Amino acid sequence: MHRRIIVPGALGAASVLLAIPASAAAPSPGAPGIGDPYYPAYGNGGYDVSHYDLRLTYRPDSDRLEGTATILARTTEDLSRFNLDFLLDVGEVRVNGAKASFTTSGEHELEITPKRPLAKGTPVTVVVRYGGVPSSKEAYGFTGWHRTPDGGVAANEPEAAWWWFPSNDHPLDKATFDVSVQVPDGTQAISNGTLRSKSSRLGWTRWNWRSDKPQATYLATLAVGRFDLTTGTTESGIPVVNAYSVDLGANDGAARASVERTGEVADWLSGYFGPYPYNALGGYVPNTDTGYALETQTRPFYSPRQFANGSNVSVVVHELAHQWYGDLVSVRGWKDIWINEGFARYAQWLWSEHEGEGTARELADYTYASHPADDPFWTVRPGDPGPENQFDIAVYDRGALAVHALREAVGDEDFFAILKGWPAKYAHGNASVADFRRYAEEVSGEPLSALFDTWLFQPSKPEAPAARAASLAKAADTPAQPRSWRKIAATNDVHAH
Ligand SMILES: [Zn+2]
Repeated sequence: MHRRIIVPGALGAASVLLAIPASAAAPSPGAPGIGDPYYPAYGNGGYDVSHYDLRLTYRPDSDRLEGTATILARTTEDLSRFNLDFLLDVGEVRVNGAKASFTTSGEHELEITPKRPLAKGTPVTVVVRYGGVPSSKEAYGFTGWHRTPDGGVAANEPEAAWWWFPSNDHPLDKATFDVSVQVPDGTQAISNGTLRSKSSRLGWTRWNWRSDKPQATYLATLAVGRFDLTTGTTESGIPVVNAYSVDLGANDGAARASVERTGEVADWLSGYFGPYPYNALGGYVPNTDTGYALETQTRPFYSPRQFANGSNVSVVVHELAHQWYGDLVSVRGWKDIWINEGFARYAQWLWSEHEGEGTARELADYTYASHPADDPFWTVRPGDPGPENQFDIAVYDRGALAVHALREAVGDEDFFAILKGWPAKYAHGNASVADFRRYAEEVSGEPLSALFDTWLFQPSKPEAPAARAASLAKAADTPAQPRSWRKIAATNDVHAH
């Protein structure tokens, strides 16, 4: 549920100079990318971050953000130099207390050379003092920062961090976060996790948020503006904090009627996916003109437009499903996006069934039948769609169809055991599509290579019999559109490219 503003198509060719293993000899520069073939310059090599401490001040009238990031990391090789991903202007960098030299390169690289080389396996503290106007910065010709009439919002996938904090920007390097943001009194600063404290002094209010479980950098979010906060507790005891821009206008009621059901939906999802993995929960709806939603950890971002036609709990189901499928277990590489989107979409199908608006099988049948064999829909391979198709509708709908094909193949008992067991098996880590296939084979005791190949990796419409013996083969004509179809389709934003 998200889209890139512009897909940087030429990126693949941009940097081939990836990690050269450090020899036993002299320390060498860390790689400018973590090694993801979809986005070669994203993330960095040579270290692993454990914690980000962000102490910031934001001025809504000028969109100026400034402050200090303190990053705790550990080196994974001998380093003469290392990179962070960042776009704002840097004033000073210190590494283990000593001033370091720095420069910028590429689209979003901050190259840092410490006074002394860093030995492999040692803890490193990096302090970056910075400032800038996020809305004035672009990389690859786009921005992940959304300026609003009363502030700004960082929420985008895969790239959002560059506009507000320096990071190792790839899901492979998760960390805990303390986000402390000072804003003018009467303005709210929303981020992930729990609100530890809030205090006002001399016209400024400081908001202190904490995420005490590992979080991918793209799942960290910041929204500043005039918000109305609501609080509650789920039946299972998780504290809920939601935030709504005070300027949602006619969308206000529908937004609240959807996002206020966050606790109910999270409890319902835990029946399928296991206990909710975090100690905080919620959602926020800023006054952006965007159209998508994003599974920012513990507190998803929802665009007002998601509620333009009335309430839509289905989008809440989607983003909260990601808290297990995407956030708790994150992609190993961005090619593994099916693990996120196929399952979040399938959760919407399960919700439809729960609401009596069409069963998952009816939605699968309709999806299958509504795309003829020559529809380009089938040329997208959800198991490895390529960066240009990472958020194509097929990753969602064909992806959910693949999930349903697995269900039909292994039966409900094994299928729901897989659905619940997977988040626990890779909790707080990363996993690939291949890891998922192996896990499903382990639980079901069945070989699934052919099934996964057919549904996720072939650039063509699977034969109905291979699909499922039962209902698909019988459905020669397009089945009736399930009642939930349009609500679910209203959560698509992928057509906007
Ligand atoms: Zn999604």
